[in-house]
Amino acid sequence: MFGNVLDWMQRYIFDPFLLALLPDRCAFCNTVTRINTFVCDDCKPRIRWQTEPFCTKCGHEKAQCSCKKNGRRRWDGAAAPWIYEEASEGITGGCVRLLKSSFYERSAIYMGKEIAAHVRKVFPLTVFDTVMPVPMFPQDEFERGYSQSVWIAQAVAKELGVPFENRLRKIRKTQPQKTLRGSERTVNLRGAFDLDEMYDAPGKTVLLVDDLLTTGSTLEECATILKIYGVEAVYVATACITPNERK
Ligand SMILES: [Zn+2]
Ligand SMILES: [Zn+2]
Repeated sequence: MFGNVLDWMQRYIFDPFLLALLPDRCAFCNTVTRINTFVCDDCKPRIRWQTEPFCTKCGHEKAQCSCKKNGRRRWDGAAAPWIYEEASEGITGGCVRLLKSSFYERSAIYMGKEIAAHVRKVFPLTVFDTVMPVPMFPQDEFERGYSQSVWIAQAVAKELGVPFENRLRKIRKTQPQKTLRGSERTVNLRGAFDLDEMYDAPGKTVLLVDDLLTTGSTLEECATILKIYGVEAVYVATACITPNERK
């Protein structure tokens, strides 16, 4: 009885009061926005959405399909709602950077919402057993204080109603992928990931989540490890995808 009263007070008195005190902020530029909105009016028209039809294998718009260039991927499908742009020209890059440079969970929650909506649209019939984030090297995560892919994956899992399991491990420190080219990226990542042996992998369908899909080397290496352990199907979902001409 007393608990019910407290719940009621929280729902109808404390939460609205707190929301009024702590206004929402834009997921892209961090300015104050109207309550219950994730994007301010300035940023909204500047988001570059991918438009249908999509290639479900590489995750690009069909017109940008990179399947021929990249050959056979180890994952079974890919999806991303936004086209990545550097912050100087566009704002989706700003969202990724905001998340990487500051402790800003709200960007991750918004990314998670949009990734989940996009995944539902692109793979309407696929039943996922687990949502899993791409892992960071533990020392890097400790230094930053959080992992953006964990936050995004948690938000995706919540939206889709699929269990979140952080079971991949990065077991070796690697050079930043953006400093390397083509085959160097694959070599850099070889043996860098492992899967928690307690994860019951055989037959599972995993949705692997990260912030950005550029060459896809990291996601591909993670997909390879998952399949070695017996995962049946791996789908990758990111907030942004880099247009082909930038790779
Ligand atoms: Zn904004
Ligand atoms: Zn394709």
